[in-house]
Amino acid sequence: MTESPAHGNFIGGRWLPAASGRTTENRNPADQDELIGTFADSGAEDVEKAVAAAREAFPRWRALPAPKRGEILYRAAEILVKRKEEFSRDATREMGKVLAETRGDVQEAIDMTYYMAGEGRRQFGQTTPSEMVAKFQMSIRMPVGIAGLITPWNFPMAIPSWKMMPALILGNTVVIKPAPDTPLSTVNLIKALEEAGLPPGVVNMVSGGGPEAGAPLMTHKDVGIVSFTGSTATGRKVSEACASAFKHCHLEMGGKNVIMVMDDADLDLAVDGAVWGGFGTTGQRCTAASRVILHKQVYREFTDRFVSRAKALKVGNGLDESVQMGPVINRPQLEKIESYVQIAQDEGAKLVTGGHRLDKGPHAKGFFHEPTVFGDCDPKMRISCEEVFGPVVSLIPVGSLDEAIAVGNAVDYGLSAAIYTRDINKAFRAMRDMYTGIFYVNAPTIGAETHLPFGGTKNTGNGHREACVQALDVFSEWKSIYIDYSGTLQRAQIDND
Ligand code: NAD
Repeated sequence: MTESPAHGNFIGGRWLPAASGRTTENRNPADQDELIGTFADSGAEDVEKAVAAAREAFPRWRALPAPKRGEILYRAAEILVKRKEEFSRDATREMGKVLAETRGDVQEAIDMTYYMAGEGRRQFGQTTPSEMVAKFQMSIRMPVGIAGLITPWNFPMAIPSWKMMPALILGNTVVIKPAPDTPLSTVNLIKALEEAGLPPGVVNMVSGGGPEAGAPLMTHKDVGIVSFTGSTATGRKVSEACASAFKHCHLEMGGKNVIMVMDDADLDLAVDGAVWGGFGTTGQRCTAASRVILHKQVYREFTDRFVSRAKALKVGNGLDESVQMGPVINRPQLEKIESYVQIAQDEGAKLVTGGHRLDKGPHAKGFFHEPTVFGDCDPKMRISCEEVFGPVVSLIPVGSLDEAIAVGNAVDYGLSAAIYTRDINKAFRAMRDMYTGIFYVNAPTIGAETHLPFGGTKNTGNGHREACVQALDVFSEWKSIYIDYSGTLQRAQIDND
């Protein structure tokens, strides 16, 4: 028997039902008969209460020394370590990806929480000589205030942690609205923080739909920064909503990532990378390798090997350790994948394998799709340019490294790219010329670690970076401080001869 508990919003340190009393169901995408729980279906009134709680908690949290804030985060990381298996299983049940991957998802939250705990003792600013005598100057970080976080479902614990931990260590208070498909992992993350001793009101959660609960959060006048991860279409709405109020706005959006396989590549390695990059997380990663650009010399051989590996992938419930690829998140996403399969064929791409939903036998109760490969794709086809967010990979033949780089860059997104080559010169040229926020050599487009900046160019982002110390810039303002101890008026740029 699976439990199906009722989860409320977390406001001011208490778990509360939505003001309307409404709830929504969260079901396993691999088995719609499995009810994971019910969650508060929130609206503007709940957001108002959550923001009020965050506002009230802000002065005290901000005044707590950053190393003390770090100690709470450190304890939360220890709790996440202890409960990793339980939280990973919950994430697989609500999101679908295989257990090995949700263990990685929770591990990423652990890494980020430890990392940001350490930043409690490392919020370094600058000190620099003045142009005047007897004058001291330095810069310090200030929290922005209330951080409104809006997150997607594909990394249900990692992404909330990427936003929450840097916000908290800097002294911001938080209101998070998780994706409607995966609120349980955010509940679990918050429970770890609660158990670690986070004071009431410092983190608040409102679960519910985007327009209903996300929109009032991003437009709330007391929210100083909105940090959003999700589709480019929604990100545009967030950006527009924040612009008129000059609200800080941090966007991490879609991708159309590329693996480039050169004629001198280790093909075994490249096939391994393309299978993991294309079909890991059922292709539902912002960094998924949904395009493989192949030098014509290796096109046939790579395709044969890649396709036979794609066909052999075991698709099923992610809780079964022998399964290699889980379901897609929900019915609309399955239908979107099917529509792209049709679009690709209408545009003349060659369906090499897959192309259908799986809905019989072990797949009857979930949202499953075959690993799908299109061959001989033209770079201008929609399947080569648009984000599908499913287990669909386009193979694009090219004649040279220059052409690979040109095709690789010819999309609206700029998140991640990779090259497989044994030629160091080619690797460095691609590294220099691919206009993406992340680049890999002899590894697929996925696999970011928490202590390097994460994010992308063009329609993937708006110039900020998640993770690493760069995340601190998202959630803080700089203050420059000048201290004149000369006892006289010294006018900058005038009295400095
Ligand atoms: P989505 O845009 O549909 O939803 C993301 C979040 O925004 C959810 O919490 C949703 O409820 C909320 N939302 C939706 N409409 C809203 C509105 N009008 N106002 C306020 N909030 C609203 O995206 P998704 O389907 O959850 O996630 C998939 C997308 O996320 C893909 O495009 C993927 O590439 C992207 N993604 C990007 C990164 C990155 O770091 N660049 C990481 C993971 C996922």
